[in-house]
Amino acid sequence: MENMIKDIDILVIGCGFSGAAAARRLAENGLKVLVIEKREHIAGNMFDYTDKNGVLAHRYGPHIFHTNDKSVFEFLSRFSDFVPYEHRVLGRIDGQYVPIPFNFKSMDILFGREKTQRLKTALKEAFGNRERVTVTELLSGSGEVKAAGKFIFEKVFLHYTAKQWGMPPEKVDKSVLSRVPVVLGYDDRYFSDTFQFMPAGGFTRLFEKMLDHENITVKLQCDAQRFVKTDAAHGTVEFNGVPFTKPIIWTAPPDDLFGCVYGKLPYRSLDLVLERHHETTYQPAAVVNYPNEEDFTRITEFKYLTGQKIDGATTIMKEYPMPYLPEAEKGNIPYYPIIGEENSALFNRYAELASGIKNLHLCGRLAQYRYCNMDGAVAGALALADNI
Ligand SMILES: Cc1cc2nc3c(=O)[nH]c(=O)nc-3n(C[C@H](O)[C@H](O)[C@H](O)COP(=O)(O)OP(=O)(O)OC[C@H]3O[C@@H](n4cnc5c(N)ncnc54)[C@H](O)[C@@H]3O)c2cc1C
Repeated sequence: MENMIKDIDILVIGCGFSGAAAARRLAENGLKVLVIEKREHIAGNMFDYTDKNGVLAHRYGPHIFHTNDKSVFEFLSRFSDFVPYEHRVLGRIDGQYVPIPFNFKSMDILFGREKTQRLKTALKEAFGNRERVTVTELLSGSGEVKAAGKFIFEKVFLHYTAKQWGMPPEKVDKSVLSRVPVVLGYDDRYFSDTFQFMPAGGFTRLFEKMLDHENITVKLQCDAQRFVKTDAAHGTVEFNGVPFTKPIIWTAPPDDLFGCVYGKLPYRSLDLVLERHHETTYQPAAVVNYPNEEDFTRITEFKYLTGQKIDGATTIMKEYPMPYLPEAEKGNIPYYPIIGEENSALFNRYAELASGIKNLHLCGRLAQYRYCNMDGAVAGALALADNI
């Protein structure tokens, strides 16, 4: 390890999109980069692999690429071909499959055409030509609009949100509730971004190409907590007991960097259960949400995401939300930061410690304690790398 660190210009902790994209940009700018990753594989939560069914499965939950940021798409297109993929989600509500986000087709199925027709008129009066509104906006309307809002809130959001976050909906931060829109039209695509694609060979293959550069070295199964020690009082960092003054990009949780002095940052985790089935198709869409009766929130059938044609075999994933339990066998992965005033204040205390160490840069969804999609992670990493 000492030899490795001697010749490098910059140290990157974590090999997800944040770490890998930053490493590539820095390497292309002539810097020698060492990437340290504690797992046995690259690609962070984007990791995918071919399972015994021959299906390309996503180990850490389904990941779909979508962005309005052309520069991110162009950057990633250098490392993989991309195939068009428009994501569609159904919800199992009152025994029927209906499109999610809830849209006019969902209304037709659950309310019948006549009631939907009246509702459409009321929605038009309330929201004009807007194509998407939030359920909170519907709830603050009146008459049929409010009634529809109540129905959608109850059937689509309430129990799903409670399951997902393990708390009553009124305690969930508003930004979370308003993330899934209600569509005032028949567009049943889950995302409305300009670029909606999947990497032809999968995400791990894309990462392999991105990291394939003479200036990048990746060290797997290497927990940075063993090597990186911070001294916030003096604004310094040691690597393996020796002062380290070159830049460090830290994409892991920030509390780990400071021995959790203020306590552990709370996250929500998932128990992701894979099932292999001997049938060609398991369900009618890539993702089916189960907002109400079941303990899981959704089922993903991976073949839809990859476009693979395999007869008589398919692989699905059920997602059971659960508390984050760092030391337990299940639930030990910090998936979603639990956004709220108290937790943001706790994060800010760690961010302040980090800002006192001039050669240290926090980057990514864990380090910055925020939910971000992969395009946001890549854009943030490239911007940081350019600054450095
Ligand atoms: C269930 C789920 C589904 C998602 N679906 C989508 C989607 O469909 N589309 C989309 O755009 N985005 C999606 N996202 C968001 C996407 O996963 C993130 O934007 C992306 O993974 C962020 O990359 P990152 O590098 O910041 O974090 P990560 O991918 O988590 O990478 C961080 C890396 O740091 C490593 N690490 C942690 N601690 C240490 C340590 N002490 N030492 C060394 N290494 C360490 C971790 O092992 C990990 O590899 C989803 C997120 C979740 C949770």
